[in-house]
Amino acid sequence: MFIEKAEVLISSPGRNFVTLRITTDDGVTGLGDATLNGRELAVAAYLREHVVPLLIGRDAHRIEDTWQYLYKGAYWRRGPVTMASIAAVDTALWDIKAKAAGLPLYQLLGGRSRDGLLVYGHASGAELPELFDSINEHLEEGYRAIRVQTGIPGLPSVYGVASSANARTGSDAGTDARYDYEPARRNAVPVEESWDTRAYLRHIPGVFEAVRNEFGPELPLLHDGHHRMTPMQAAKLGKSLEPYDLFWLEDVTPAENQEALRLVRQHTTTPLAIGEVFNTIWDYKTLIEEQLIDYVRSPVTHAGGITGLRRIFDYASIYQIKSGAHGPTDVSPVGLSAAIHLGLAIPNFGIQEYMRHAPATHEVFRTTFTFANGMLDAADAPGLGVEYDDEAAAAHPYEAAYLPVNRLLDGSMHDW
Ligand SMILES: [Mg+2]
Repeated sequence: MFIEKAEVLISSPGRNFVTLRITTDDGVTGLGDATLNGRELAVAAYLREHVVPLLIGRDAHRIEDTWQYLYKGAYWRRGPVTMASIAAVDTALWDIKAKAAGLPLYQLLGGRSRDGLLVYGHASGAELPELFDSINEHLEEGYRAIRVQTGIPGLPSVYGVASSANARTGSDAGTDARYDYEPARRNAVPVEESWDTRAYLRHIPGVFEAVRNEFGPELPLLHDGHHRMTPMQAAKLGKSLEPYDLFWLEDVTPAENQEALRLVRQHTTTPLAIGEVFNTIWDYKTLIEEQLIDYVRSPVTHAGGITGLRRIFDYASIYQIKSGAHGPTDVSPVGLSAAIHLGLAIPNFGIQEYMRHAPATHEVFRTTFTFANGMLDAADAPGLGVEYDDEAAAAHPYEAAYLPVNRLLDGSMHDW
């Protein structure tokens, strides 16, 4: 079975997506997600100019060899653009192999290890009443684990909070969606936000105290620090949140400096999740070997596909570290489906992030996965169980959109 065609498909049904579709000489097609939020066209060009020409004529069954060929063969290793491109090829080839076998992909990865994937949703509110409404809304929709983000007094717009009109200029603008936070805004340049870490550290423990008092001790609660703290600030936050028994505290520091997590770890028993901006197993080496985190955050889409991410999860499993894959709406339904199949199969699944895609997205990406009782599950359709509708996609051309940038109150650039 040889690769006859590989197409880079760019569409924007609610938000921008880059998709790779590979077709074999006997007409089997496979899809891979190559979406890199705010840098979409760089991955599209990498694929079109430097990867697609190398794929034509290759044996579609040789997934591992193709992965190594694109990783080692480029000489220039790692990085989000390269690894999203490799991920798209890898995922599309797994989709093809599973379709050729007539099996849902998870069967080729070892079969089911569980009934479904526990997911968490994003609740947010500028103030507590809105936050409580948002949590209740998620519980009514079946969510059994909730990420909590709130506004910070004195800051006009804060990461993860959707309830201000300011934050709702993305895919849900003009709709009645109240709380679906969409950080990427359609604009020629990124929106600028401002940040004050001390104000944040003062405010957040009281928010979690109020949420626990309102919703009780059982509901798993998560929180994302979005890379904004120093190691000492992160240690302080982790410690101050211990009474509220978080499921995890995410991205407390910019974790390129993996050794910094030693200090955080020494000071708090709050579980830590890191890695949504990481791309390879090398980015986790110290974090995993020294057991400095509890959950690995990389998604299939940005970490070299099923092949790359499975290797990271297996490595993590020997240290009792679990999966907690990134799953915002900029991971396309193709990337999400890949996450579901991989999550069903691995022994060390933890939780899956799940923000539901907009209806327009589902008109382009025809999915078969299900969400019920707070769990995602794959259907029995062969492959990934997603088809791409070219006609529907044609109505949604690419439009520049960027994640915001972040400045401290004195104007200095800070981590967003
Ligand atoms: Mg995050």
